[in-house]
Amino acid sequence: MSIFKRIFSSYISHKKVSIRNSLIASAALFSINTNGAFAASKNYVAVEPLTCDIVKSIALPSDEVICLVDRKQDVHDLKISPKQARLLKKADKVFTLGTEMTPAMRNWVKRNSTVVLGVSAIDIDDHSDHDDHDDHGHSAKKHDDHDDHDDHGHSAKKHDDHDDHDHHDHGGVDPHVWHDPHNIIKMGKVVSKSLKKDVPERKLRKAISNRLKTFDKTLEDLDKWIVKQVSTIPSSNRVIVSKHKAMDYYGDAFGFETISLLDFFGHSSSLRPQNISKVLNELKEENVKVIFKEQEPASKLVNNLSKQSSIPLSSNQIFVDGLMMEGNTITVAVHNTCTIVNELGGSCDETTGFDLASNWGSLNQ
Ligand SMILES: [Zn+2]
Repeated sequence: MSIFKRIFSSYISHKKVSIRNSLIASAALFSINTNGAFAASKNYVAVEPLTCDIVKSIALPSDEVICLVDRKQDVHDLKISPKQARLLKKADKVFTLGTEMTPAMRNWVKRNSTVVLGVSAIDIDDHSDHDDHDDHGHSAKKHDDHDDHDDHGHSAKKHDDHDDHDHHDHGGVDPHVWHDPHNIIKMGKVVSKSLKKDVPERKLRKAISNRLKTFDKTLEDLDKWIVKQVSTIPSSNRVIVSKHKAMDYYGDAFGFETISLLDFFGHSSSLRPQNISKVLNELKEENVKVIFKEQEPASKLVNNLSKQSSIPLSSNQIFVDGLMMEGNTITVAVHNTCTIVNELGGSCDETTGFDLASNWGSLNQ
């Protein structure tokens, strides 16, 4: 049987078939569409690896979702290649975190076909503003969930802390919103709303809603899991020191103070003695136990400060700018949390965490 026929027949029999990201499969689907046998499946491009994971988890399995950027690439520094530009042009829709995270999207975000789901697209500061979202059945449920979570108190804290920190990297707005799982829920809502617009059939829109429900549930479970792990850390140890300002949403959501070293030095300035002594004082004052590295091997800046302060570096890195080489949105949250919790004197239940990651993975096959 030819590849096309195999895909075609398993498509017909509604068997689960992993077809996304395969050029052969996309050619096959194209043939199906031109035969008029099925509703048009869409061709989506998701720019950042994290965005790609989120979109794939919500989109219908029959839609093609192409991940534009390799996981190895730092999207802060992305330059769009001619090949990537062609994919962007050809896509029915492009999903991106936006220019705050990925400045290279500057010229693309203006297009009607581009959907931004990052910091500029979601409501970070005002949790009460949920009314402008879609009016389908699932959103009512979500509103309830949200109210429960506001009672945790971490959202109120977030507002205060944010004002202190806003004017550093990334052109003033911190784009690393996904470190708070509740923000991913909001990002998912942006995605599902947009995907549903492409789907005329009620049944398929319902299928997207159902996928979003599992998505949201997994993220709520992740949130609860993180709260539980963090509670094992002695409270005087709850400080996250790392190189660039990326863990503030995490810190605000889960009760950490965050110190980003580049806030003291800026991107261009060298390690001037007065800056160094300022940092060393701050680290001492905060009783900092460990400095978290964001890359392997650790950056010079972080290495230097570790030596001068005699504060050890974390043995594992944390992944602050997106996904790890393996795994998904939940995997990286579990990895980061367990790294932070274990280094700061708590104990982390990895097994339960990675169970959540595999729940998520089942959405994404
Ligand atoms: Zn970053």
